[in-house]
Amino acid sequence: MKRIVSIGECMGELSETGVPGTLSMGFAGDTLNTAWYLRRMLPGDWTVDYVTAVGTDGLSNRLVEYLDSERIGTRHIQRLSDKTIGLYYIELKNGERSFTYWRSDSAAKRLAGDVETLEQALAGASIAYWSGITLAILAQADRQTLIDALMRFAARGGKVIFDPNLRPRLWESADAMREWITRAAGIADLCLPSHEDEASWFGDRDAEATAKRYRQAGAKRVAVKNGPGEISLLDADGQLAIVPVQPAAIVVDTTAAGDSFNAGFMAAELAGGTMAQAASAGAALAGRVIGARGALVPQAIEV
Ligand code: ADP
Repeated sequence: MKRIVSIGECMGELSETGVPGTLSMGFAGDTLNTAWYLRRMLPGDWTVDYVTAVGTDGLSNRLVEYLDSERIGTRHIQRLSDKTIGLYYIELKNGERSFTYWRSDSAAKRLAGDVETLEQALAGASIAYWSGITLAILAQADRQTLIDALMRFAARGGKVIFDPNLRPRLWESADAMREWITRAAGIADLCLPSHEDEASWFGDRDAEATAKRYRQAGAKRVAVKNGPGEISLLDADGQLAIVPVQPAAIVVDTTAAGDSFNAGFMAAELAGGTMAQAASAGAALAGRVIGARGALVPQAIEV
């Protein structure tokens, strides 16, 4: 079936409008960004569903309405009456952005709390996309539940695509992060790490070392992003290939570079492209996304 599910947390984003006393409200999240780009790039016979948990309050309703308006499927979003969505506020001080978070009560922590609901969300999908942020924010008891559900999905022939998206501050310890991320990557058909983060936390010497480490962990294929540097690919046979990236002339805002790369990569593979063609397509999209402000850049998508 032509259906992708993206699994993770989406938060409300409050930012200054420039008009004193008013804030503007948006929604953001790594797995949402990828779903958004996928929805705009994939042909209409594909369904892109977002899998998360939200509350039953007005803010949660707004998020679901937003996803509906973007034609991102909301059928498998769980509603938990005693929770709400996480929120953050972006403040600009002397050109530097600082963030205040309210996410301790976030419903998304419980997105893998009910196995039946998870199974229903995954049933009939061909691809399940998720990230290390999804794994980090889960209630600890639910992490293995989600990995197990994705393993069953893969055993039925589904493809699991995973971006490690290392965020040490979301984890109880760096060791826990390394252990869980390695376990999650091990069940992936395709792992999409960013070398710079990986070098910081796993000590990889270069992008090839990152690719090899994830393949050793069990990922069938790996594509390593590296900022303006080339993409390093390891295919299902363990063959290494290097794909050049055109460094951007102007970088305005790198938010969602990796998320949009992942969407561009997946869309190109689904259109029949090779891994190398997919990497080029992902890099081209990400290169345009970083040329404008914000995570979601409609004009970055070529039609
Ligand atoms: P993340 O945003 O996840 O940390 P990277 O910084 O590695 O990931 O960037 C993801 C992708 O975005 C890169 O693989 C590349 O295609 C593109 N990209 C990032 N920075 C640049 C840049 N300066 N010039 C061109 N492309 C870039």
